[in-house]
This record gives sequence, C-alpha cells and structure tokens, in this order.
Amino acid sequence: MAECPGIAHLAEMADGGLARVRTPGGRLSADQARGVADAAGTLGSGVIDLTNRANLQIRGLSLDAGPRLGERLAAVGLYVGGEADRRRNVLLDPLAGLDPTEIADLRPLAAALADALGSADVAADLSPKFSIALDGGGRAGLAATASDLTLLARRDGAGRGALALALAGRPLGVATEPETAVAAVLAVARAAAALGPDTRARDLAPHVVAADLVASGLAAPCGDVAWPAEVRPVFGALPASHAEGRAAVVVPVAVGRLDAGQLRWLAARADEDGEGALVLAPWSAVVLPGVAPARAADLLRRSDAVGFPPVAVVERLTVVACAGAPSCVRAREPAKGAGLALLARAAASGAAPLARVHLSACGKGCAGPADADLLLLGASDAPGWTLHAHAAPRRPGPAVGRLAEADADAILEWLAQRG
Ligand code: SF4
Repeated sequence: MAECPGIAHLAEMADGGLARVRTPGGRLSADQARGVADAAGTLGSGVIDLTNRANLQIRGLSLDAGPRLGERLAAVGLYVGGEADRRRNVLLDPLAGLDPTEIADLRPLAAALADALGSADVAADLSPKFSIALDGGGRAGLAATASDLTLLARRDGAGRGALALALAGRPLGVATEPETAVAAVLAVARAAAALGPDTRARDLAPHVVAADLVASGLAAPCGDVAWPAEVRPVFGALPASHAEGRAAVVVPVAVGRLDAGQLRWLAARADEDGEGALVLAPWSAVVLPGVAPARAADLLRRSDAVGFPPVAVVERLTVVACAGAPSCVRAREPAKGAGLALLARAAASGAAPLARVHLSACGKGCAGPADADLLLLGASDAPGWTLHAHAAPRRPGPAVGRLAEADADAILEWLAQRG
C-alpha cells in the first residue's frame, strides 16, 4: 500500500487503486463534485469515501489510472500536480461562514494556506501527512480533531479574533494574528520539513516552536485558552439568520460512503436549491449552503430516497466503520456494509438508540480513534465479530459477546439492553 495516497500516488487496495482527492477547506463547487463523480464512475468502481479529514477517496481504480485521473481533476481545479498536491491538508470547520456563534470566518485563511502549501517551493520536504485544522471558534468544536497544527479563533483583549495555536493537540500558549497566520503555519511546516520528510508535529519541541514564533514576531503569548474537548457534529437544517435569509442543510452520509450517483445528486441540489457549492464535513456529512428555508425540509426528505440516512437517526446513533472487506486486504468482514445495514435497520425500526458504534475489521482501527459504546472488532484469522463495550482509542474495552455476522437486530437489541 502506498504510504499516503494522492492522485499521482494511488494506494493499492484489495478492490483496486485508491486516490485521495484533497479538497482544502472541504469546499468544492457543484461542477467539481460532478467531476469527481464522473471520474469515479468511469475510471473507478463508482465508490467514493468521505474521510474524517473531509477529503474524498475514489476507489476501484486501475493502478495505472493516476495520470488520466490527474488530467480530469486538474481540469476542474482539484489537482495542482506533483508532490505539492499531497501537502494541501487543510481541514476547516465546515460551518465556517454559516455559524452565527463563530468568532472568525476562516475560509479566506484556509484558501490562502492551501495555495501556499500547494506551491512547489514551500516546505518541499513536508510530510504529506502533516495536517492543519482551522477552527473559527464556533459550535462544532473542530479544534478537537487530531491534527499536527491547529489554529483556534479566540477574542483577544481588544475583542479581535486572534488565533491560538496547538501542536499535536497541545496548546502552545501563543496566538497569531489573522494577518500573520499563513506565515506562522509555514514557519512551523518548514521547521518540521527541515528535520526530514517523515517529521510530524509530535517530533517538534512545543516550547521551541512557541519561542521561535514569538521571536520572529509571528505570534504572541496568549495564556490559557479553553480548547474544545470533542467535535460536536451538526446535521439537518441550520437556522436561516446567518446568511442573508438562506439556510444551510447538512446531509448525513452513512459511514462516510457515497456512490457516484449520490454525489451527482448532491451537486444537483447545490445548483438547484443552494448556491452551487458543497462543503464536506469531517463527521460524515455534506453541507449545502444557501438553501431557501422553505426548501430545506423537502431536500432532507428527498435525501432519504437516494440512500442518505435520516437526520433523526444519525443524531442519536453514530456509526463509524473502516473500509473493511472487500476493500482492504486485511479484512474478511464488510465493515462499511455492516454499518450501512445497521443504520438502515435503526431507521426502519423508528427508534434509534442513543449510542456510538465503531466497526473495525481488524485491530488497526483505520476509521479513526474514537470512544464507542460498542466496538465490533473483526479478526482476520476467524470469521465474525467480537463485541467490546466502552471502547476507547487503542483500548477495545471488555469483550461482551460474539456474532458470526453483524446482525443489525442483534446489535440494536444489545444497545437497547445495555441500560
Ligand atoms: S481497520 Fe484493518 S481491516 Fe479496516 S481498513 Fe484498516 S487495516 Fe483494513
């Protein structure tokens, strides 16, 4: 498997080549979304994953499809070519510009950072895994996402929105101004790249990074900052007051898996009901901004018919799943398929439990570290799933049962009876 997939670097998976399409800031136009859907449908299997860093992955490609895919995506502005493309790892709060509680709208900063990181001469040795998160201080708490470098908007003494910095999740006690934020991020990126192409933020000394930023005038001490403890996903119609009387609709995507037809449907809704844009959310959802409030409920109702789960279900039952079989060579259990079936069964039952379920087809935990009320863990040497209660990252919790297959009714019953 390739170390970190891109468009020129396809990862070889059990279901074919996998390309990661970076969408800095998570924002793409309806035309760009159609470009991804068309490429996935003609060059790949039509299966598209929405990652927990708000990028898209096209699955089932032939291993020599990279150049043709690159041409298609460059034509719609989603590929800058070469190694620089893989450095554009900028995660932005998907509610930026839509959330009336945010302190700062960081969309311009996200775009400027993506441009800077995507220019060939900036931090050329930066690891393609080096990730940046931007949180405008709104309701979603995006700064709780694990990232190499995080910027969180806070009000300084003058009421302006300075940006507090954290390295590998550890607040540095310094903040940069919006005008110096790009330079501050690039300074940290260059410091990492200077130590070697595999260097991550955790390899840097936080006090040295903070002191260097202050000494260079790119940041100033800011004292303690209240940091979000967890990301708070948002689904459904957002209030209309924030954007000139228009609403935003957050459409949930079950276990982060789309097909080309669903992505085209979202692009059509963005054009016909919204402002022609889609914003990918790292909690498996797609935001459609600029929808007339009167159309929001109807849009969500129609999303059920094309396979998106009901908001009422995902607001209670969170299901995350790794790629599993048949996508991953290490898996024998279909984690995504089982997760989809579980959400569908919960929707049909009309009574989704309030719970978080994680399906991981082996112990690697690719679906992302998260606490879960119930972890279904597949083992590659034996069929079936072991049920673990109270799972935490890298700690499965006690085994409480075994299922030969991920029977949705049995899982829902276990969740209902756990008290
Ligand atoms: S958790 Fe294991 S089975 Fe699932 S995608 Fe990762 S490596 Fe494959």
